[in-house]
Parts: sequence; structure tokens; C-alpha cells
Amino acid sequence: MPAAGATPAFERCVDALGSRAAGEGISASVFDANVRTVTPDPSLLALLNSQPEFSTPIWDYLAGLVDDKRVADGQRMLAEHAGVLSRVEAKYGVDPATVVAVWGVESDYGATFGKRPLLTSLTTLSCMGRRQSFFRGELIDTLRIIQSGDVAPERLVGSWAGAFGHTQFMPSTYRRIAVDFDGDGRRDLVGSIPDALASTANYLKRSGWRSGQPWGYEIRLPSGFDGPAGRTNRRPLSEWTDRGIRRVDGGAIPVSGNTPAALFQPAGAAGPSFLVFKNFDAIYSYNAAESYALAIAHLSDRLRGGGGFAKGWPTADPGLSRAERREVQTLLLARGHDIGEVDGMLGKASRAAIKLEQARMGMQPIDGRAGQRMLKALRASGPVRLK
Ligand code: CA
Repeated sequence: MPAAGATPAFERCVDALGSRAAGEGISASVFDANVRTVTPDPSLLALLNSQPEFSTPIWDYLAGLVDDKRVADGQRMLAEHAGVLSRVEAKYGVDPATVVAVWGVESDYGATFGKRPLLTSLTTLSCMGRRQSFFRGELIDTLRIIQSGDVAPERLVGSWAGAFGHTQFMPSTYRRIAVDFDGDGRRDLVGSIPDALASTANYLKRSGWRSGQPWGYEIRLPSGFDGPAGRTNRRPLSEWTDRGIRRVDGGAIPVSGNTPAALFQPAGAAGPSFLVFKNFDAIYSYNAAESYALAIAHLSDRLRGGGGFAKGWPTADPGLSRAERREVQTLLLARGHDIGEVDGMLGKASRAAIKLEQARMGMQPIDGRAGQRMLKALRASGPVRLK
């Protein structure tokens, strides 16, 4: 019986998926119960095709991902799961702070998995839109997870694209990387924190993690330095130190001089500079974004007790923590802006309201971005209702 809302074209697509699934060892009962029951959700196509309205400055990105609360929560997780993390380190060679930092950035230590049913998303995107071939592979791998008994279908919820669980793996990553670490016979990255922490470490190990090496350090450049930068422009560490590059805290760099290192300047020469090693690339591979890798690397340092960067970002208007974003939203609501619920996300409705406030306050540019300046201005202007 076809699901409600399915067109004939969608039904033909589901039939084709059924043949493929059968060819890959998925039983008819698993396929019918989990795919034939899906009502397609065309609203996913807007997400598939959406372009970001503006690129987030790295100081905003980091201010939200590495805030005091995420550091405090992560330190609590390090203590709470110390036993598992030390067994994970013994087996995979990845230290507890790095594993917990990935967990904190991916799912806020298990607090946010995403809310979209995976089977609806992946079946819809297997039959509609411009990346059907990719999503078909992910759908088949989701059915493998269900058929093996690793995770029950009703617990498979995640991002619109299909990343789910503590580690926010895609189903194909799950198939390759997930491990059963608590020994119950199931690889469960939704319900088992030990399985999730070990799978994160397994991912980093497979991505070339070097046990005992640092990800990198913030460094100070000698005056007049105009050397080559860029994460993929690797030179032996000794070449950089010969040119006068030093750690900002003056400490030694505890790796050998022939270790490949790159000069990473995420906001150009005016912002903080870093020397990064192989382990930075391993973190980068988790999500293929340098800002993402820096967030995890920096969070791992903060979890070990380190402070913020020595050099500030090149902006007069630094970014907001999640608590400060919620405060901005609360102040916008108090002023009569209809921005929905306070979730700390500063989405479309919040940005529209921020633009109105920027115009009203004579701030430039009118771009819908809220930093410390907007927060202070809203605090100062009081709860006047605009409408
Ligand atoms: Ca398990």
C-alpha cells in the first residue's frame, strides 16, 4: 500500500529502490516496513538547494561553538566518562580532550541530535532533487543499520541530510567506522556513549591521527614575516622555527624538526596564526572545513585548561556565546519582534529583526548580524515595544 502523498513517479522510484535494496541483501520486510511507509517531504528540497545568506565570520562561528558553557559541560563529561575515555585512548591512541571536543561540537555532548526522521529524509532525497544517487547509498546503509539491529528505526532522527546520533555520522560513515565498545553486540551511536566515543576515536585514527602529537599551536610571527600560509602548504617544522616562528606562550614545540607543519591564518595575517600538524588534518577530515577543525582543536585546548587565543580577531565587534545569542533573542522578543522561540540560533526571523534594529539605531552595516555591539545596544535601549 503506497504511503499517503506519494505520486506515481515517487512510487516507481520506491519500487526501483526496493530492487536495489534486495540486491544488497536488505530483506523485503525491512524495506517495506521502513521505506514503503514513507510519505515524501518535498520541503527537504528547499534545504538541499539553500545557499547561506552570508558566510559566517570565523569569530562568530567560534564564539558559539567554543563558549564557556561548552567548556564547562565538556570538563564535566571528561570526569564523568574518564574510565571509558582512557580505554578508548588505549585502543585508538586519541586523547580524551580531543574525543570529547568532537562530541561537544557535533551534538553538544548528546543534547542535540537533530529532529528529522532519517527514513523520511533519505527516501525523499533518493527520489527527488539533484543528489539522488548519493542519498540512495545513504538510504541503503540506513536499512543495514536497522536490519542488523544496531539502532531501532524510530530512534533514527537527525539532520535533514541524514547525519545522526552522538557523532553525527552519515549512515555510510557509520557502516565504515562505528564500533561496539560497550560489548552488547550492537554498534549504537544513538544510545551508547561508549560506542559513540570509541567510534569518534576510530574515525580520527583512520584519518591519520598521530598518537601523542599536538594538533598545533598558536604562534607569533617575527616582524616582517611574509612566508607562505595555508593548511595544505606543509614544510618541516624546523623551516618555520628557523624563520623565527615561536609559540605565543614561549613554550617548546614537542615534535621533531622534520615533522610536516603548516602556517594556518584563518582570518589572514591580521588575526591569530597557528602552526598545525597532521592531527589538525585528521580533525579537518571529519567535516572538511578549516573553521570546524579550529573549533574542535581550540575546544580541546580549553578542556585541558587552556585559555583563549593570545591575539584577537580583526574585528571591533566580537561574536556572541550561545547564552548571549539567547539574550539578544529575549531582548528582541521584549521589543515586539515576532522571532519565534528563544533557541540561541539567530535564524532567518532573528536576522530580519536585527536588521530592523540596526536601521532604527543607525548602525552600519545593516546585515542582520548580531555581535557584542548589538547586544550592548539592545541592553541599553530597554524593553520599549515597537509595535
Ligand atoms: Ca554497543
